[in-house]
Amino acid sequence: MNQGTPKDSGSEPLELGRSPLGRALWAAAVYFVVGLAWIEFSDQLAEAWFPDARSLSEAQTWKGFLFVGLTGLTLFIVVYRQLNKDRLLLLMQVRQRKLMRQHERQLTILLNNLPGMAFRFRNDYPGSFIFISDGCEELTGYSAEELMNKGSLSEAGLIDEECRLAVAREAVDSIRQQGFFSSEFPLTRKDGRQIWVWARGSGLTEDDGSEFFEGIVLDVSKRKALEQELEELATKDSLTGLLNRRELSRVLAEELERAHRYHRSLAVLWIDFDHFKKVNDSFGHAAGDQVLSTAGWVLGSSVRAVDSVGRFGGEEFVVVLPEMGQPEALETAERLRQAVRHKPVILPSGECVSVTASIGVAVYPVHGSNADELSAEADKAMYRAKMQGRDCVAIAQPAQPIHNEAT
Ligand code: GH3
Ligand code: MG
Ligand code: MG
Repeated sequence: MNQGTPKDSGSEPLELGRSPLGRALWAAAVYFVVGLAWIEFSDQLAEAWFPDARSLSEAQTWKGFLFVGLTGLTLFIVVYRQLNKDRLLLLMQVRQRKLMRQHERQLTILLNNLPGMAFRFRNDYPGSFIFISDGCEELTGYSAEELMNKGSLSEAGLIDEECRLAVAREAVDSIRQQGFFSSEFPLTRKDGRQIWVWARGSGLTEDDGSEFFEGIVLDVSKRKALEQELEELATKDSLTGLLNRRELSRVLAEELERAHRYHRSLAVLWIDFDHFKKVNDSFGHAAGDQVLSTAGWVLGSSVRAVDSVGRFGGEEFVVVLPEMGQPEALETAERLRQAVRHKPVILPSGECVSVTASIGVAVYPVHGSNADELSAEADKAMYRAKMQGRDCVAIAQPAQPIHNEAT
């Protein structure tokens, strides 16, 4: 359980009072004062109250009994008061312990029912654990005890050094800014499975100046997967898994910007499948989809890692080739044309479908200086390829200089 003491809100502070020696001296002093007062004044009082010798002698006898009775009563009152105080102190102590146990129990129930794991670790190099809640077993696969023995998240190999540094930076900032830290990072479980977690907490400073962090870690893998799925849906074409039109336009604009900045060339390939209507008409739309999906895969796997392939719509695909001039772009286009031609698709019915493609090539800065110009030129070149009999590659024509007509 947590090493920290729960706050004793509502319970009275424990009053320890005088030390045992002080209290014994106090009882002895009271006895001493009463005894002295008796010795000093009892004879004078007896003589004043009983003037005749006989009654005085009787009074002297009773005085002894009275002395014992009076000092006994004094002792009784003093000891009774002390013991009663002790009893009250003990009762208060028992009540406070009960309250503390109740607090601890409530805290344990709360921590163990929290989704994820609650933690407290020191602000030292690896971030040594001081406390981990039982939820750690479900989250990491390690029991709280096992993980405590490992020392820290990084020593247990749950988090890599780069992430640890990033999380530590945020956590340390939270102490300085007296605020919260919140980070998301991948965590490797005991069984080797990687999950995404979200850690939120705050940095605190103890009375002795030592710093530590407290908070919770939650499994956010499902949310992360959903986010990735949404991102894919927003950027990928669902049929082929290639980039969609919007993402490809973004990539083209970004690559053109880079090409412009570093004075590099860039090529765009505009690909349209030949007589694709016939594929649909002969084998059905579903078969056409399968052909498109396979053709997309062929295109995607025939280019470099730095190149981007997307489906622009229908059976039109676009390839962006950064840092590529005309000769290499023509070579790549030819390679893609051949790859498509030589990869027939076997349908579930066993039938074999072969397709060909016409490809238009435009190169920055020769054929256009922006995305619209390059796309239009590559598209025009593709149509010329169609005119030239399809299943071939055509390059865009260089932009014509504007001549001023002599009047
Ligand atoms: P061309 O050689 O002139 O390009 O002839 P084409 O038949 O391919 O003509 P065009 O490019 O104009 O027509 C594209 C056809 O591709 C129209 C449609 O039947 C088919 N098509 C477009 N999108 C899809 C799709 O997502 N799935 C399937 N199965 N077919 C599609
Ligand atoms: Mg078309
Ligand atoms: Mg076509």
